Amino acid sequence: MGTGHLHIDLEAVAANWRALDALSGPGCETAATVKADAYGLGVTQVAPRLFREGVRAFFVATADEGLELRRALGPEPRIYLYYGHMPGDTATIERGDLVPLICSLDQLERQIAQLPRRPFGLQLDTGMSRLGLTFEEWAAVAELALRAGPVLVTSHLAAADDPGSDQSARQLARFHEMTDGITVPLSLAATGGTLLGSAYHFDMVRPGIGLYGGAPFAQAEPVATLDLPVVACFDIPAGTSVGYNATWTAPAATRIATIAGGYADGLHRALAPGIEVMAGPIPCPVVGRVSMDLLTVDIGHLDRDPDSLRILGPHHGIDAMAARAGTIGYEVLTSLGQRYRRTYRG
Ligand SMILES: *Cc1c(COP(=O)(O)O)cnc(C)c1O
Repeated sequence: MGTGHLHIDLEAVAANWRALDALSGPGCETAATVKADAYGLGVTQVAPRLFREGVRAFFVATADEGLELRRALGPEPRIYLYYGHMPGDTATIERGDLVPLICSLDQLERQIAQLPRRPFGLQLDTGMSRLGLTFEEWAAVAELALRAGPVLVTSHLAAADDPGSDQSARQLARFHEMTDGITVPLSLAATGGTLLGSAYHFDMVRPGIGLYGGAPFAQAEPVATLDLPVVACFDIPAGTSVGYNATWTAPAATRIATIAGGYADGLHRALAPGIEVMAGPIPCPVVGRVSMDLLTVDIGHLDRDPDSLRILGPHHGIDAMAARAGTIGYEVLTSLGQRYRRTYRG
């Protein structure tokens, strides 16, 4: 039987895209960010489902991801690369008909010299200080870059998930300062920016995490459900410790289920203690340390041994799990292991 069973609901991904598309309104294209294997959920399943839903612009990080996506989707959609045009990428960009989002002066030079007639986009740094031409660089090269005919000009918000932060407004003002008056299509918003309202939408939004059921898109339908099979069950008397370093000791006689999944499968060691798994509607506490491939669960209150326990699902989504481990839903998804048996709905 192996390790866990990961159910991925492509109908929920499509519904989340439609909801974000409705928010971005007419006149704004809603693209999809599917980098890192569609946030760990399987790009060759997720992207064709989104294409069927009407998505015609996809964003990945690397040229290799772009080429894989081109093979999955055929010639029609536009595929953008957040890493831009890195050394060694030229042939892949050409073969995959990919659109690099140029993010430095070196890359601009490389693009113009090596792929002068191929489409490209630009990334501007409006205050995140991560990727993109700075304000001063843009002032120096905007004319040259615009003459080369970019198909999209983008920037990225650093704190769009925090409506209380004024950084988004400052970045928006900077983006206007850097792009007002140019006629190239513009894109600033990922999921968080899409939720901030129409001032942030421009010509295209490019959500990722919201499609996969994650914060800050609170209305998102959950996409991933994870069931872990029970490997063994046994009784322990009061005072027995469980797991590495004996971090939990049974206060009373109980029964333990050891289930198939651990930190090698993306169930972070920092999750324990405190997380619960579900036997149908009944929560059961995980006790003791997370091992590489195993978790131990107190099932003393169940009237029979379960076949499997649900660790991720509507009861306890990726953000709840992330909060337990001191991280974000993005990391929970992209850490999901390769050992799970995966089934897709939709
Ligand atoms: C990952 C990424 C996105 C998508 O962000 P979400 O928060 O997942 O919606 C958009 N733009 C850039 C530049 C990114 O790196």
